Amino acid sequence: MTLTLTDPDALLAQRVQTSRQLGGNPELSMHGGGNTSVKVTREGRRVLHVKGSGWDLATMEPQGMPGLWLDPLFEVKDGPRLSDTEMVRFLRSHLLDPAAPNPSVETLLHAYLPARFVDHGHASAVLALASRPEAEQRETVRLLFGDDMIFLPYVFPGFDLSIAGAKAFAAQPDASGMWLAQHGLFTWGDSAEQSLTRFRDAVTACETLLAARGAPLMAPTGRVGNGALDALCPLLAEALTGEVFATLHCDPRGDTTLAELSGQDGIAEAVSRGTVTPDHVIRLKPWPLVLDAGADLGSVQEAIAAFGTAYEQYFRDHATGAETMIDVLPRVVFVPGAGVIGLGRSATEAKIHADLAEQNLRVAATAEALGGYAPLSRTEQFRIEYWELEQAKLRPKS
Ligand SMILES: [Zn+2]
Repeated sequence: MTLTLTDPDALLAQRVQTSRQLGGNPELSMHGGGNTSVKVTREGRRVLHVKGSGWDLATMEPQGMPGLWLDPLFEVKDGPRLSDTEMVRFLRSHLLDPAAPNPSVETLLHAYLPARFVDHGHASAVLALASRPEAEQRETVRLLFGDDMIFLPYVFPGFDLSIAGAKAFAAQPDASGMWLAQHGLFTWGDSAEQSLTRFRDAVTACETLLAARGAPLMAPTGRVGNGALDALCPLLAEALTGEVFATLHCDPRGDTTLAELSGQDGIAEAVSRGTVTPDHVIRLKPWPLVLDAGADLGSVQEAIAAFGTAYEQYFRDHATGAETMIDVLPRVVFVPGAGVIGLGRSATEAKIHADLAEQNLRVAATAEALGGYAPLSRTEQFRIEYWELEQAKLRPKS
């Protein structure tokens, strides 16, 4: 059989391959925090293959990219706002295979961007610049990319983001990428390679600008702990093991550079302002548990109790009455001068939390060096943390 550029399975295979390249580099996209798509033709009709919920780009397979009939997806583009549940039901009703996983919550934006291939991720260098006030971000985007990059102010993910993104694209149809404030980056292209190359080139341009501004992004660490963090883990296990953490797993990160970064003046306060993307807040909660290196069991217990009280207050301040409060325990520990610890119910979960916490610290430190880390407001963080669709991702699979 000869594969041609219009062969749908060949196009999907290319899409899978470059999705793995995007997801395989944590500086471009980390732990499911990104999505990709390709538009093909099957049975004479246009089909969108998009990342399925629960799949990781780094380990993508064709069955992880469910197909949807593309043309009917435009029915809701100019209509009334869909709720999250309505949107998921609508998307599912257009799946080619009714048993396929839920398509990404960003499916409609992928559908409304006309390019054949679309890539989205939360690249660290982009996030550092996207964690600054909106006016400065607009200037940055104009300086780096001119009219080639659409600037989209922060919009709640899902339906609202898809519609806002489609409108922004209509106003700037020659662009080849979209910058999402306090969130990440979209690029697109006619080929899988072109879309991914545009993504990488944009990230490189951001890295170069950060270095030129004297705020280089610290390289990812060797993912090792240190004595100070190791000493805290048994105390955390003693204080936290219970209903939420049946067995507490600790993933400490504190090589020399990360330990130094975590010891910078004001950085504990900065990371406590919030997370670098909507995705991070779901996993990490809006702020970490801050502990001194050398803390004893009593102070660890006190700090956890204070964290819980502050979390309950945050919930009371922002709840609309429709939400049920989740547990009040931390997911990340921040130890000034020593590093961070990811906490999880499994080793995998602890590693994910540690990876994201490390990225969060590196990005926040860079944004501080640019003039101040400006993440989403607490109100927006709360909306995301208690977003029905996001909460569903974290429910244990029974
Ligand atoms: Zn995203």
